[in-house]
Amino acid sequence: MSPIQPFNFESLLRPSIRELKPYRSARDDFKSGILLDANENPYSPGVEQASGLNRYPDPHCDALRARLSELKGISPEQIFAGNGSDEAIDLLIRMFCEPGRDRIIITPPTYGMYRVSADINGVACIECPLNPDFTLNPERILDAAPGAKLIFLCSPNNPTSNRISTDAIEQILSKSGCLVVVDEAYIDFSEEKSLLPLIDRYPNLVVLQTLSKAWGLAGIRLGMAFGAVGLISYMMRVKPPYNVNALTQQTALDALSSEGKFREHLTLILRERERVSEALKKMRIVKHVHPSDANFLLVNVENALDLYHGLARKGVIVRYRGDQLHCNNCLRITIGTPAENDALLLAMREVSEIKASNSKPTIS
Ligand SMILES: *Cc1c(COP(=O)(O)O)cnc(C)c1O
Repeated sequence: MSPIQPFNFESLLRPSIRELKPYRSARDDFKSGILLDANENPYSPGVEQASGLNRYPDPHCDALRARLSELKGISPEQIFAGNGSDEAIDLLIRMFCEPGRDRIIITPPTYGMYRVSADINGVACIECPLNPDFTLNPERILDAAPGAKLIFLCSPNNPTSNRISTDAIEQILSKSGCLVVVDEAYIDFSEEKSLLPLIDRYPNLVVLQTLSKAWGLAGIRLGMAFGAVGLISYMMRVKPPYNVNALTQQTALDALSSEGKFREHLTLILRERERVSEALKKMRIVKHVHPSDANFLLVNVENALDLYHGLARKGVIVRYRGDQLHCNNCLRITIGTPAENDALLLAMREVSEIKASNSKPTIS
């Protein structure tokens, strides 16, 4: 499939962004020498001067983007590094949507940050819900697309844990005329391939990934956006100059050099996902464990809110998602270490036994 209408992202940008004269940092002018141009202080308590933390970080994350480029097979100019994918979500909305006027499309039930970021920026959301079986409804999205600038799709989706069909996403890419953001936070846990190779075919595709999930580094806050060179260059102009701090850049580089360990951990999580899923399916209070392409399970149970509170009293905290569309009586359970998963399964059994003995009919 190829784009039906030619896509010119610049015409979708807010005029103030198109005309922006970006901030120039001292390091844009000179990179070496006796650097007395950025008001940095050579002395810092508790830190060795040699660590370089007295200096501002690389505003362009060049080393990190070079490594990501090797790993993903994508040129560094097509890669944006951000303070979590949440920063990329916010940036894209701010770059394209005029507050009070422009709109985005979201597909509930899905990740909550798309709506929160839109709300913060005064941008309205058009809801095109997933079908009750959590598949995408491309016709509905295409009907709404003329009234929107951006479409957020999440695959595998949070909280439903399923992947979205690539065919359906390609329909939207080729026919919507919108910028389509595909959030792949959980892609490494999935059997489905990443859409990254499609960024060269679809100029209106942005793919988001993160080190927070499969790489186990939620604490350092590193998210990535991949897309056409021109679009990424605008993201680089609009972002705060030092959006990824020096410790994060270094830690990310260290982690990204340990691909072997990464694969090992991934295998362990996938094995545990299977084990926990099978154990849950055998429990009487569990109605359905949704098939998962992520590192969590969406589990349909009897009386989810009671179970949620019962588990919390035993010190096991899961996420109640029963208030989300099509997720009645659902809990979202993250796959942890084998010991944590055992604790979850034990607590589930104990809570369900208490419930069973409470509800036993009294014989008189
Ligand atoms: C966890 C998650 C993220 C990660 O966001 P970061 O800001 O990179 O930590 C992004 N999208 C979805 C759907 C998520 O569930």
